[in-house]
Amino acid sequence: MLIIGGGASGTILAAHLLRNGPPGLRLTLVERRERLGRGIAYDTPHAAHLLNTRVGAMSAFADRPDHFHDWLAAQGTPGDRDAFVPRHLYAAYLESLVSSAARLRREQEECISLTHGSNGRIAAHLADGRMILADRAVLATGHPLLQAGTDMLERAEFDPWHAPLPESPEARVLIVGTGLTMVDRVMRLLEAGHRGEIVILSRRGLLPRVNGPSRPIELDRADLPLGAGAGYALRWLRKQVRWHEGRGGDWRDIVDGARGHLALWWQSVPPETRGRFLRHARRFWEIHRHRIPAPVAARLDTARLAGQVRLVTGTLLSAAEREGRHSVTLRHRGGELETVEVTQITDGRGLLRDPEDHATPLVRSLVDGGMARIDALRIGLEVTAEGQVLPRPGTPAAPLHAIGPAARAASWEGLAIVDIRAQAALLVSRLISGDATTVEARRRPCG
Ligand SMILES: Cc1cc2nc3c(=O)[nH]c(=O)nc-3n(C[C@H](O)[C@H](O)[C@H](O)COP(=O)(O)OP(=O)(O)OC[C@H]3O[C@@H](n4cnc5c(N)ncnc54)[C@H](O)[C@@H]3O)c2cc1C
Repeated sequence: MLIIGGGASGTILAAHLLRNGPPGLRLTLVERRERLGRGIAYDTPHAAHLLNTRVGAMSAFADRPDHFHDWLAAQGTPGDRDAFVPRHLYAAYLESLVSSAARLRREQEECISLTHGSNGRIAAHLADGRMILADRAVLATGHPLLQAGTDMLERAEFDPWHAPLPESPEARVLIVGTGLTMVDRVMRLLEAGHRGEIVILSRRGLLPRVNGPSRPIELDRADLPLGAGAGYALRWLRKQVRWHEGRGGDWRDIVDGARGHLALWWQSVPPETRGRFLRHARRFWEIHRHRIPAPVAARLDTARLAGQVRLVTGTLLSAAEREGRHSVTLRHRGGELETVEVTQITDGRGLLRDPEDHATPLVRSLVDGGMARIDALRIGLEVTAEGQVLPRPGTPAAPLHAIGPAARAASWEGLAIVDIRAQAALLVSRLISGDATTVEARRRPCG
């Protein structure tokens, strides 16, 4: 068995396989980075970058909810299950799940392509020229490659977690986008003592909501608006919130209750409806679904009240670079134009990128070779609800699955640790029962 990618998804899947996988299973994990468990999300040493989820919800195993909490205590960081701890602690936790496993072979290398091997197997080709043959492979390759955009933000910092700080702490900077990526960048700047103005820009000016205690409501599947349009589904959600708040409940209980069902709705509607959700409802859903811890929200509010962080609702009209400075023109929502000089622009528009424009050599090879295809909405590779990667029509399917953001096109959600650990458990149970057959193999008996 081969896992490609050793971020959160690959590491959690490896931990599940080591714990519950078939006896005698031999596992190889290919990760180009030096450390496991980091990926994009947890590769930050900064204490200001906190988990957005409470300790009590971050265990790698659903059936052992205190696993992360107990690990923290064993490291001498005992704490509250409701606390939000720095993300680098989570990276260390993930790495500890697999670091001493004798059955795991670790390859620090980039996998540049996959091809069909002999006897229905799959062959992984590494950048150093080696090849690994496996009975099955799982893509845990995560978010599309972070690289400069081809639009006006070509000269922006596109990796907000590792972008250098502005040379002068007094400099004015611009962050395009007002989601969680913006929050991370602002926290990093404030932590480093930045004093200059931080302009944050987005079309709708929506900011992530604050996390608070939540008791997810069990929604009855029969009540879900499966098959309904995006507008209707959103109205349905608002109605549930009004009903619940009318009884003294909190909107978070409904959002958290509904999030597990979004995948069902996503799979119940055609691509056009999904597209409408992405264009019109996605941002609204995301600010309620992906919330920020209260201390982070308080820090952001303080900086806004002090005038250091200024929210502009509008669009970026132009950006021109001259001698290391950018002259940017913003169009405010009311139509007013504003031109400001900034020393740095950060692209904080999130991680959703066109999978082909931002493809790694591996994704390019899968698509070019027909082993995978890009989904209709260009979110990622097309996969079944169980994570089986679908080939180009007419091309034989490979024993290839995907997990986490690499499988995002199937469910839209599936990014959080609770989703990833559920996907990992499902995949392992299928492997044990021998049900993780390829689409090709499954079709054959039906003729
Ligand atoms: C900033 C941020 C904060 C988050 N905070 C939370 C949170 O608090 N709680 C929560 O539940 N979720 C959170 N999430 C969501 C979440 O945990 C991520 O979706 C998750 O990290 C996805 O992990 P991944 O391993 O699939 O992807 P990635 O993090 O993108 O990692 C993919 C890995 O695969 C490797 N790789 C890719 N291609 C190849 C290749 N061809 N060869 C070799 N290696 C390869 C990469 O080097 C990388 O290490 C957060 C996400 C982000 C971005």
